[in-house]
Amino acid sequence: MAKKKKGKGKERKGKKPKKKKAASKVANVYDVSGGSIKRKNHTCPKCGPGIFMAAHKDRATCGKCGFTEKK
Ligand SMILES: [Zn+2]
Repeated sequence: MAKKKKGKGKERKGKKPKKKKAASKVANVYDVSGGSIKRKNHTCPKCGPGIFMAAHKDRATCGKCGFTEKK
C-alpha cells in the first residue's frame, strides 16, 4: 500500500488548506441522456481521446501538450 504523504495532520502555517476536488467533476464532462453518452468538453486532437481541453470563453487549451483551439 502507498504511504501517506509526510506531515500527517500537520497544516503549514500561512497556507490555506488544500480543497478537495469534487469527484463529480468527471460526471460534469459527460452528458448522459437516453442511454448515450456525449462529451461536453473537447478532446485534444493531438493527445487523443481521454485528454480533455480546458474550456475558456474564447478558446480551448490542452494542458498536456499546450495545443490551443480558438472558437
Ligand atoms: Zn494535447
